Amino acid sequence: MFELLTTDPKSRARRGRITTSRGTIETPAFMPVGTQATVKALDNRELIEMDAQVILGNTYHLNNRPGMEIMAQAGGLHRFMNWDRPILTDSGGFQVYSLARIRKVKEHGVEFRSHLDGSKMFLGPKESMEIQRIIGSDIAMVFDECPPHGAKPKAALAAVERTVRWAAECLEQPRAAGQQYFGIVQGGIDPALRERCARELVAMAFDGYAIGGVSVGEPEPEMFRAIELTEPFLPAEKARYAMGLGTPAQMIELIARGVDMFDCVLPTRVARNGTAYSRKGAYNIKGGFAKADFGPLDEGCECFTCRHHTRAYVRHLLNVNEILGFRLVSIHNTHLFLQLMAETRAHLEAGTFDEFRAAFIANYVPTKKVLAERAAAETLLD
Ligand SMILES: [Zn+2]
Repeated sequence: MFELLTTDPKSRARRGRITTSRGTIETPAFMPVGTQATVKALDNRELIEMDAQVILGNTYHLNNRPGMEIMAQAGGLHRFMNWDRPILTDSGGFQVYSLARIRKVKEHGVEFRSHLDGSKMFLGPKESMEIQRIIGSDIAMVFDECPPHGAKPKAALAAVERTVRWAAECLEQPRAAGQQYFGIVQGGIDPALRERCARELVAMAFDGYAIGGVSVGEPEPEMFRAIELTEPFLPAEKARYAMGLGTPAQMIELIARGVDMFDCVLPTRVARNGTAYSRKGAYNIKGGFAKADFGPLDEGCECFTCRHHTRAYVRHLLNVNEILGFRLVSIHNTHLFLQLMAETRAHLEAGTFDEFRAAFIANYVPTKKVLAERAAAETLLD
C-alpha cells in the first residue's frame, strides 16, 4: 500500500507512493481539505487540473450534514460529490475537542453537544469508523483524543492511554472495500509519551501513521519538536502524515524531517482574507502592492489565475467583495501548495532536495507570528 521509492541522503526526506483502489498518491503529498464535501470555492474540474491526487472529508461535519442516511443513499462520498480519486477522512476526534461545547469523555467515546444546534451526540471508535465506512473513504483515520496545546501532563497521559485503547477498538470495526486505516500518535512534546504512543500503535500494524496533537495552537518550534519526537519510532515502510499542517516553508521542513503527507485549510481559508501565497511568503493582495500592478499573483506561477488574470484585477474583485476574487485566490494558493509537492518529489528523485530546501527557505519570509515564535524559543534555549 505504501512503497518507499527514494530516501534523501542528507535529511530524513522520502519519495514514496500510496496505492489505493481509486488510484495512487505520490508522496510527499498535499491534500486539499474538503471538510463539507467540497474544497471551499473550488470545483472538481479545477482540483483535477491542478492534480490534486487525494482530498479530505470530515466525519464530524458530514455526519452532522447531510447525515449518514443521505450519504448511504448517495452510495458514499465519492459518488455524492462526483470525485473518483482517493479521499481521506478525518475521524472527527479533532472536532469533538475543538468545536463541541460540552463534552464528557466516557470509556467508549465522547458524549458532546453539537456545535450547530446543541443536540446531544456520541462519537467513539465504533461510531467514527462506522461513519467513515458509510462515507467510503480510501483512508480512514482512527478516533483519537487530541488534547489542547498546553495540556497538563496528567491530561496528556490520559489522552495517550485513551487514544491507544480506542485505536485497538477501531481496528476491530468493519471497513469499506479497500479502506486503509491510519493510526494517530499523540503525546504532546513529552518524549516518553510520544515514544510510548508510537510504539503501541506500531505494534497494531496500521496501514499508515499520523502525527496528531500538532496544529493545535502551539508555536512553530514546538510543532517541529513533536514531529521529531515521533518520527524515529514510525516504521520506514509506512506513510507518515502530519495532521493540519502547514505553510509552504513548514511543509518543506517537515518533509526534511520524514513526513510524507499534509493537509491544511490555509490555502482556501486565507484566500477569503485576500491573502496569497508566493515563493517569498504570504502577502495581502489588497495592501501588498500598487493598484495598477498588472503582473500575476506570483511570478512564474502556472495556475489558472496567474495565466489569465492580473494582481490589479484580483485586487479589484476582492475590494468589491466579488465571489470570483476569493475563487481566483483559492485556485492560486491551492495550486501553489500542490506544485510545491510536485517539485519536491522531482528534487528527491534527482537527488537535489537539499539544495532545493536551502534555496526555498532562504527565499521565504515567514509571517511575523512565526518569527516571534522562533525568537521566543531561542530565548528559552539561551
Ligand atoms: Zn498562480
